[in-house]
Amino acid sequence: MIDKTIEPTDIFIIGGGINGCGIARDAAGRGLSVTLAEMNDLASATSSASTKLFHGGLRYLEYFEFRLVREALVEREVLLKAMPHISWPMRFVLPYHEDMRFESDTPTSRLLSYVMPWMKGRRPAWLIRLGLFMYDNLGGRHILPGTSTLSLKDTPEGAPLQERFAKAYEYSDCWIEDSRLVVLNARDAEARGAKILPRTKVLSATREADLWCVETQNTENGDTQIHHARMIVNAGGPWVGDIIQTKVRLNSREGVRLVRGSHIVTRKLYDHDKCYFFQGSDGRIIFAIPYETDFTLIGTTDAEHDDPSNKPVCTPDEQSYLINFANQYFKQDLSDADVVWTYSGVRPLYDDGASSATAATRDYTLKVDANGGAPILNIFGGKITTYRRLAESALEKVSEHLANVKGPWTAGVALPGGDFPVDGFDAMVADLQDRFPFLNAFWARRLVRAYGTEAASILGTAREADDLGKDFGATLSAAEVLWLMENEYARTAEDVVWRRNKLGLRLSKDQIDTLDTWMATHRRSESKAAE
Ligand SMILES: Cc1cc2nc3c(=O)[nH]c(=O)nc-3n(C[C@H](O)[C@H](O)[C@H](O)COP(=O)(O)OP(=O)(O)OC[C@H]3O[C@@H](n4cnc5c(N)ncnc54)[C@H](O)[C@@H]3O)c2cc1C
Repeated sequence: MIDKTIEPTDIFIIGGGINGCGIARDAAGRGLSVTLAEMNDLASATSSASTKLFHGGLRYLEYFEFRLVREALVEREVLLKAMPHISWPMRFVLPYHEDMRFESDTPTSRLLSYVMPWMKGRRPAWLIRLGLFMYDNLGGRHILPGTSTLSLKDTPEGAPLQERFAKAYEYSDCWIEDSRLVVLNARDAEARGAKILPRTKVLSATREADLWCVETQNTENGDTQIHHARMIVNAGGPWVGDIIQTKVRLNSREGVRLVRGSHIVTRKLYDHDKCYFFQGSDGRIIFAIPYETDFTLIGTTDAEHDDPSNKPVCTPDEQSYLINFANQYFKQDLSDADVVWTYSGVRPLYDDGASSATAATRDYTLKVDANGGAPILNIFGGKITTYRRLAESALEKVSEHLANVKGPWTAGVALPGGDFPVDGFDAMVADLQDRFPFLNAFWARRLVRAYGTEAASILGTAREADDLGKDFGATLSAAEVLWLMENEYARTAEDVVWRRNKLGLRLSKDQIDTLDTWMATHRRSESKAAE
């Protein structure tokens, strides 16, 4: 029953991953009232487990996904300008050897083996060059340099690779700190009026004529609450189908295909700042990427995943697959002993009936159901790279059902801390070290990468490291943790060391436990003060 004392919100968003938070920010900036519920921490699912690239997706060209690739390519620079702290350009080195053979069943390889049967199982150099030419020219590229050819003989890029690789192609894409992207969108949405409710699970949603009645539960204290909304946006990622079937109970045939992708992290494997794009004989590709200064990130896999509630982990088979794949290229033979961390996520892909997980479309699909009253918009698929465009498309659908929705505005508008020029990072680090001489280079760079122009506000009036309170290790201070609790919805050590930053790679279990206990004490004193 509708409770007339509860003011309805225009849109109620289920899911605090990149799609939910991106839509919340866009909608709030267009003057809509917005409530977003996330059952765990923000970005606790797929949106902190990606390969962390703003990329066009070179391999999708083989599947003729031109719409997606073009949109993503154009988007890279739009996003880079709005968040030059958490995103930066990277060069990708694609080693080439003419003896390489592939078991590939992409539309391109089928076409090639039809018109040139002698090419079956090969990805010739001219085809790669053609792909890279399209990659350079499909989308507006002003900041990022184009493709070049590179010798691997006596060059830093060739040094870690096996001798048989003499030549490579080099092209541009960008890095993105995925979980920080999510939290910055949530913060900006809140600054524009949205209500962001982490650790709040949607239990059910029922239509009452032209309004939704949504029941939520606070997952920390069990309290339940009723909200009314004119429209629901289901941005549940891997749970989009579960929400349709068990929370909203729609009669819908739309399906999601869950495809797990895992990564391994090793100590730094080479000494330059470029990434590698390795092609495998199974037709797949993996990346090896410089990660968190002292590490290398290798991924990913494509494996079917049955149930979103089964926490994805990198299985021993996936770990062996990635190690063996990398060992086809690196001189240094990797083994399980080199792996210091793994993570895994589930891609919520639109079920387009593709034969394999690798072939399933990475494009997004938006479906509105307005049968029987208030509308719900279900979001399938999507990339981190296209989240802003996905939000614009979502708002277009919303505007067909709600009145007075203003036009698009997010292109070029900086996220919190991102209001500085794309090439201004080094100057910001130097300035921060000038103002706070106790910061070493690692610390200053880490703070500017995470917080951009907001870094100084965390340090406040500190004149020495001790002024920042307790030192949790690896440059993490009490002042920074309190700031994350007050401004970025952090509640536990895991939120801090695996999503607001990646200091979990450098802190011991004991140090993380100490942080967790300290945060619990501060949460308690916070709630006492509020009583
Ligand atoms: C291995 C891998 C690598 C990838 N690499 C890249 C890349 O390099 N570049 C790129 O552009 N894209 C990449 N992607 C794709 C990208 O990560 C995803 O498309 C994107 O993160 C999906 O975001 P989302 O918001 O839809 O889902 P999610 O981030 O999963 O968010 C959905 C949220 O909904 C919440 N939720 C579910 N049910 C409820 C409920 N009942 N109540 C409240 N909350 C609920 C969940 O807790 C979850 O946090 C990659 C994906 C994977 C898996």
